[in-house]
Amino acid sequence: MVSRVIPVDPFDLVIFGGTGDLAKRKILPGLFIRFRAGQMPEDSRIIGAARADLDDAGFRKMAQAALTEFVARDKLDAEVMGRFLQRLHYVSIDATGEGGWTELAGLMRPGVVRAFYFSVAPSLFGDLAERLHAHGIAEPQSRIVVEKPFGRDLASAEALNAVLAAHFDERQIYRIDHYLGKETVQNLMAVRFANILFEPVWNAQYVDHVQITVAETVGVGGRGSYYDKSGAMRDMVQNHMMQLLCLIAMEPPYKFDPNAVRDEKLKVIRALEPVPPEDIVRGQYRGVPGKDGRDGKAEPSYVEDVGDPQSRTESYIALKVRVANWRWQGTPFYLRTGKKLRGRTSEIAIVFKEAPHSLFGENESWKANVLTIRLQPNEGMNLSVMIKEPGPGGMRLTDVPLDMSFADALGEEGTDIPDAYERLIMDVIRGNQTLFMRGDEVEAAWAWTDPIIKGWEERGDRPRGYDPYSSGPEDALMLLHRDGRRWREIRE
Ligand code: NAD
Repeated sequence: MVSRVIPVDPFDLVIFGGTGDLAKRKILPGLFIRFRAGQMPEDSRIIGAARADLDDAGFRKMAQAALTEFVARDKLDAEVMGRFLQRLHYVSIDATGEGGWTELAGLMRPGVVRAFYFSVAPSLFGDLAERLHAHGIAEPQSRIVVEKPFGRDLASAEALNAVLAAHFDERQIYRIDHYLGKETVQNLMAVRFANILFEPVWNAQYVDHVQITVAETVGVGGRGSYYDKSGAMRDMVQNHMMQLLCLIAMEPPYKFDPNAVRDEKLKVIRALEPVPPEDIVRGQYRGVPGKDGRDGKAEPSYVEDVGDPQSRTESYIALKVRVANWRWQGTPFYLRTGKKLRGRTSEIAIVFKEAPHSLFGENESWKANVLTIRLQPNEGMNLSVMIKEPGPGGMRLTDVPLDMSFADALGEEGTDIPDAYERLIMDVIRGNQTLFMRGDEVEAAWAWTDPIIKGWEERGDRPRGYDPYSSGPEDALMLLHRDGRRWREIRE
């Protein structure tokens, strides 16, 4: 298959927080890979802007170390790296002070795309937006990119939106949810809306239920103090899993246009029913004493990891969600996500109803069709279908996978899937907001989330303990059992 990389227009991208963890691990490596692929024009520039007292040479050195650490070795071509580093500049700036802004203004070139990546704490967004305008750096066509967390409740999300709206139009604001940049997630839309096969059965009449799982094997580790203030509901469900749910549940947009897609997603969020307490299970991982942990040493529990024995924050959550509209009446969406679980898996499973009539008599191996969309590991899709078991012995049935792994189906190009950040940053430069969250979507998602969290706080809800590297708390199994269903296995 021939690569179809279309270069974007030349740009000046300013990364506020250019010396931070996100810039080193994702933004700079992502830009480097796109540069290497020929998508980032040679006359584009990346300007790091942060508090550290560096010059261009110092920033390039830092970037080189970050690329060496975070880019796959077979993609680290010294000559390309040298050319890429020449595109990098640095200005020492304090978002809350006046130093550095005149210098930054002097660096900006007329006639190229201007984008500003706010890779700093959200409390600095207002200061940055204000100073970009006060110093005449932001233009009506400039774009800003902001990261999660986008608020921690409806009120703070509204306040953040207001801070940005004071200086930028919605069409200039790119709120990143990197799940939307994943190839499979985009493929979900292609599969649904570019084929005749799926859409006619994509509703409550044919879909029994949907499972969305995001399981991690790691604990909160060094992020304990940050994580403990948010928990799985705020960190994963309100944003990433909500976005996945929207793409599965939404009506076909009238075209693949940013606002058409986002209008449909918004309708789904608004159709979500409040979730009663009996439909939610929260958990916290336990510790492992002695030498029984994974690496033969003791492992801390969640509360030890975050350093607060009284913490009631969940490291696991499972919920049964209902979308109250015509299409989904009676089809539950089960969501679960957690840390220190049995395997590292992200997948969406559309579990269809069983065939209405058992033509082949009682058959123990009879299974409903399942369409699985794997985000991790090995992005791809799998449709399980029933067939006749080969050979003699009568009409015995078995289920086989119609596996669509990108690597197998698309050859080399299928294995070279761009990282979500690469894709999303290029979309910012192209001016395509389709895969970014609109302000009203974020607010609607918080409006649904807030009463759930408030309910826990009011009731003094305590998460249940679960064993590390298990499938989560026992009660989460019951959430499906009582509906006559079962979770899909989380594979190690
Ligand atoms: P970090 O603490 O590693 O880096 C922060 C950066 O901001 C540094 O470059 C620092 O110099 C700069 N900075 C701090 N105060 C400043 C000021 N007053 N003026 C100018 N620059 C200032 O943080 P990070 O992990 O890179 O995260 C950046 C943002 O991205 C945060 O909002 C975070 O929540 C979000 N985020 C990070 C990740 C990640 O994987 N690191 C993932 C998702 C979202």
